[in-house]
Order: sequence, then C-alpha cells, then structure tokens
Amino acid sequence: MKLNPNSLSQILARRILNYGAISLHEFMSEALNHPEYGYYTKSNPIGRSGDFITAPEISQMFGELIGVWCASTWIKIGKPNSFALMELGPGRGTLIVDALRALKALPECLKAMELHFVEINPQLKKSQEKLLSDYRVIWHKSLDDIPQKPTIFIANEFFDALPIEQLFFRNKKWYRRKVDLADKKYKSEPKFIFTEEVSSLSDLDRQFVVDSKCLNGSVFEFSPDSRDAITKISKHINYYNGAALIVDYGYHEPNTNSTLQAIQRHRYVDVLNEPGCSDLTAHVDFRALSSVAIINGVSCWGPISQGSFLRRLGIETRSEKLSVSASDATKESIKRAKQRLINEDQMGTLFKVMVLGQKSSYPFPGFLSNELSETA
Ligand code: SAH
Repeated sequence: MKLNPNSLSQILARRILNYGAISLHEFMSEALNHPEYGYYTKSNPIGRSGDFITAPEISQMFGELIGVWCASTWIKIGKPNSFALMELGPGRGTLIVDALRALKALPECLKAMELHFVEINPQLKKSQEKLLSDYRVIWHKSLDDIPQKPTIFIANEFFDALPIEQLFFRNKKWYRRKVDLADKKYKSEPKFIFTEEVSSLSDLDRQFVVDSKCLNGSVFEFSPDSRDAITKISKHINYYNGAALIVDYGYHEPNTNSTLQAIQRHRYVDVLNEPGCSDLTAHVDFRALSSVAIINGVSCWGPISQGSFLRRLGIETRSEKLSVSASDATKESIKRAKQRLINEDQMGTLFKVMVLGQKSSYPFPGFLSNELSETA
C-alpha cells in the first residue's frame, strides 16, 4: 500500500511518537475538525448518501414547527425590533428554509431578523449559500463573535458533534482515557488503541461527576467545548436578551456508560479506525448543559422529549393539513415521517429539547410551567 504521509492517521501517529499518547478530546477534535482531513471539514455527511440523516431531512414539519417556535419566542422576549437568529451547525440549511417559510406568517418578525450561521464545513456552507440565496446570511466559524443584539440560537444535532473527554473509575481511582499507538514500529497504516492515565479530578470535573454512581467501571463523559459554547450563549442571553433551543440525542439522568460512537454510511464502525473518515459523536449530557447555563444566570426549561415538544407545537394538526390534498402514497409518507420524529421507539424519546432564556416566570413555547430546572 502506498502511504500518504499527510493522512490524518499519519499526522496523529507522528504526534504520538514524538510526544506520547494524546487525550481522547484531542483525537476527536482532530478527527472531526482538522482543517484539511477532519470529518466535518472535508465531507458532506448528511442524507441518504452520507453517513446519517437528521430530523429536518426527514420532514419539512420539523423546521416549520421550529419556525413557529421562533415566532412565538420572539413575541415572548418582547418583540425586539432588531434581533439575530443564529443557527449552530445548520447542515444543508433545510431546517432554516422550512422555518423561514413558516415565519412568513409573521412579517414583523422576519423584518426584525438578521440570519447568522456558525459552520465549519465548507461543503455544507456551499449548500447553505445555494438554498438561502434569497436571504442575507452572515457566517461565523465559532461562537466568538455573536452579534451584539438579542439572539435566538437554534442547535439541532450540534452538541453531539463536539469532542468529549472520558474518565473512568476503577479500584477507587480515576483514569483519563487516552489514545496511543498499538505498535510504535508500525510499517503501513498505524493502528490506534485506547490507553489510560491515572488522573486526579479537577474541581470542575468533581462538580459534574459528583452524582454519578462511582462503581467500578463507571465511565464519566464530559465535553469541554459544549460547556464553553453554553457559557457563551448563556452570557449573551443574559446581557442582550434572547433564547436558545437545543435539540439532540442524549440523557438527563446521571450516566455511567460510554456513549462514544462512530458512524459511517449509516453503520457503526470502530471509533479509532481511520480518523477523519467516520462521524464521531457522543450522547449529550443535558444535565451538564443545564448546570452550566444556570451557573451563568439563565433559566433552563426541560429537557423534554422531542415527541412531547413537537406534539405541543402542533405536529398532528400540521401533518393533517399537509395530507388534505395529498395522494395516498404521500399521505403515508407524511404519516411515517411524523411517527419517526415523535414515536417513543424512534426519535421521540432519545431526542430531547431544552430551552435557555432570561430568568422569567413564563414558559417558552412547547414547555409547561413545571418544566423549569432551577438547580445547577
Ligand atoms: N443541524 C443540521 C446538521 C447537524 S450535523 C441538521 O439538523 O440537519 C452537525 C452540524 O454541525 C454540521 O453542519 C457540521 O458541519 C456542524 N459542526 C460540527 N462541528 C462544528 C463546530 N465545531 N463548529 C461549527 N459547526 C460545527
């Protein structure tokens, strides 16, 4: 086999040979975001021909209902006459196009709105440019320059794409998961393996690990990048007003198992194989996100299940309306898409929805007044 000395495997192998095993976070960051060979910088991962499919790609109803949510949220936050709608990781742009169609029902809101996208994938950015050619969009590579105005953030399947660290507990000690070379004298493609390093918990780690049951073999996952993003969003909402809608697959109860996974062409593959060629993700720890948000002074609603959220926003009525003049085949596909989004055994329960907003007593659209999380 002819070796490409610049492939990501070779780059990471040389780094490990020179400096020793790297953290899981570093491995994942490079595999996902390396400027040339990272998964999210070189490929178009979404859709049937890609590696995974997301809710807005399943049905237009998803983006439309989020458009309705944005319109009602804009009213709730006091109808600011200039605000930013900032989507994190907009994928192909499908969600926002469907949302904008629904938002046409409230022209005042559309008039006050400036569109901002945070995207690192140049190919997806091209699809977004094409799909949104009728709108003025401002692109950002990170959350470092959020516009200085009230902002409604939307993040569907964004947080699961951010790199994580894993700590695990064995014989009364904490270990940090690392990635090493199986054989330092590799001849062809290097093979990576997991190793571990005894680790003391930092105060920050301790704060999040405290209520997970520390049994032998317990794995504790955390995402420094997610904490950082939630801190920036929360501070922004606190200062400038706004709200954030976070939809993702994940958990709220303490979790003590590894949720790290790699997906290629809709199949699970080995996490350490061919970095940069598969989608590495981890389930989102909603409890950690809400703690960080609350510490930073905002209110946190939920998480509730995606099924409840979409039902409360009216997915049943919307699907009936779309079906009225549809052919039998289309009616059937609308019904199947709706079920996929809300049924418990499909995306309805695993996917959860959380909203951040300024401290207030009223619930955001889709939430009930007793769904406010008050403690960090
Ligand atoms: N929201 C879309 C796409 C989800 S896939 C949908 O529901 O279809 C994850 C998205 O986040 C992609 O657009 C990806 O390119 C983007 N992304 C992943 N990591 C990112 C990062 N660190 N910064 C900005 N965008 C990122």
